[in-house]
Amino acid sequence: MAAPRILVETSAVDGERIEVKGDAFHHLSVVLRRGVGERFYAIDPETGTEYLAEITQVGDRVLTGQVLEQAEARQQPAVELTLYQGLPKGKRFQLILQKCTELGVSRIVPVLTARSVVQLDDKRAGSKLQRWEKIVQEASRQCMRATAPQVTEPVGFAEALADWEASDSPGLFFDETLAGADHSSLAEAMSKLKSRQRLAVFVGPEGGFTEQEAGMAAEAGLTPVGLGSRILRTETAAIAVCAIVMYECGELE
Ligand code: SAM
Repeated sequence: MAAPRILVETSAVDGERIEVKGDAFHHLSVVLRRGVGERFYAIDPETGTEYLAEITQVGDRVLTGQVLEQAEARQQPAVELTLYQGLPKGKRFQLILQKCTELGVSRIVPVLTARSVVQLDDKRAGSKLQRWEKIVQEASRQCMRATAPQVTEPVGFAEALADWEASDSPGLFFDETLAGADHSSLAEAMSKLKSRQRLAVFVGPEGGFTEQEAGMAAEAGLTPVGLGSRILRTETAAIAVCAIVMYECGELE
């Protein structure tokens, strides 16, 4: 049975001794019922270190272990993927944050496009950002990512394009109006990009991108891509696209 993985603070490790408390203790000792002599991996997101340890003592609230090996945490994704996401309504964006964190996306930029129903003033944007950061932190802990993705403040479409242009990375623009027209398929686009270290994808909100936004995207050099004849919900498109891109770039293996 594979050794389970937990996340720990840097302070949990002192030389060859490791102390596990709180949620990690509960998960290891109560949920997984691991005891003395059994092994576990402890990932410290702060230092990006992964420890293999053997349990030496289990108390009511604290478990101690002997560190056997340590190495660089393996959770760093093979590609640095940025999702520029047309900000959808309600819980859809939270679902996108959680699933794209699990898929290994590095950065998520909420974009206020012409058809975004959600409009945020500075105060609301600030509190939303705190909530979004909590979601990706929690999702990172759950999937044992050593580092959580960055979620930025919401930006306008032109700002998102400028941000992407400054990243000097290939970008794909997902446009459902392309169905049937002459455009790259995702397979064709990815065949040229799978070895790149950094990539970006643009997905529209529930109402899609406007023609003007599609024109600006083409002007900026984004590659328009279709996903077949069915119209996917924004959350379906975002999660599917990130899963496919991450897989093609060698993750999820
Ligand atoms: N205009 C769409 C409609 O008529 O329902 C709404 C846009 S769709 C719900 C949200 C976003 O998902 C789109 O802006 C696009 O980025 C992406 N998307 C959905 N289906 C797609 C497809 N078949 N091809 C490419 N992108 C798609």
